Amino acid sequence: MSNVSRPFPHMTLAQLRALNFLALLLSLGTLGGCTAIQASKLLAPESFGLVQVTATIYVETGTDLETQAKLREAMVKAESGIRTAYGSIVSRPIIYACVSERCYEAFGGRGSVAKVYGDRILLSPRGLTWHFLAHEWSHAEIRNRLTVGAWWHMPQWFDEGVAVSVSEAPEHSETHWQSLVASDIPRPTADELHTFKSLNQWLAAVHKYGDDTNVQRKAKGQPEIRPVYAAAGHELRPWLAAAGVQGLLAFIAKLNAGEEFESAYQTANPSFQRTASGGR
Ligand SMILES: [Zn+2]
Repeated sequence: MSNVSRPFPHMTLAQLRALNFLALLLSLGTLGGCTAIQASKLLAPESFGLVQVTATIYVETGTDLETQAKLREAMVKAESGIRTAYGSIVSRPIIYACVSERCYEAFGGRGSVAKVYGDRILLSPRGLTWHFLAHEWSHAEIRNRLTVGAWWHMPQWFDEGVAVSVSEAPEHSETHWQSLVASDIPRPTADELHTFKSLNQWLAAVHKYGDDTNVQRKAKGQPEIRPVYAAAGHELRPWLAAAGVQGLLAFIAKLNAGEEFESAYQTANPSFQRTASGGR
């Protein structure tokens, strides 16, 4: 039955998932070889200091019960956020939660709060909230709903904008965007945002606008800024509000059918009009 369609019928499902994961790590060209090797440790988390506490949650050894309980609550809330945005859930990510930075770095996390590798979500001690969980889960959910080709053609800014909107993180919120506007902090216009298509273009923008300078800003007593992530949320929130679940699913179907992104972005959501100035 299912064996007929399997490319490697002699392998177990767990082995196939592991193979897919390794293929994914190898395909992520922007990951350094070192990061890919570190991330591959997630295939054997219990050999590298994590323990399994539920079917879908691993935590660093020594994580206290209160933190574990908070994480389970965060999973429930994140799941509800994903279900609300997508209408249902097709991805079942495994969560790997680190309570020390050392653990996070050992699995390839650096310069971030949380990461997603396919269906595996790695959380740093700073990311043990439903917001970061839902953000990474949104990346996993949309990836599971798109064909490989459609996923490659989806611009990074859109993927991030949906994740930012769904996860409601205060760091990327409309309130944060308005504070950037009020302080005249440089930030991308909507038109510029639409040019951040590849992961490399996105990361270059994050660097240009200083989303990655918060460690230094904090040390100087300056407020943290996230102009690029906030811009993506600012663009996507009204689009998602107008589209609703049906519009988002229609958009996904259009991408899967081979439609160009900008066309699908406009036509899946006819009630939504971008302003020409991008100054919304
Ligand atoms: Zn993201």
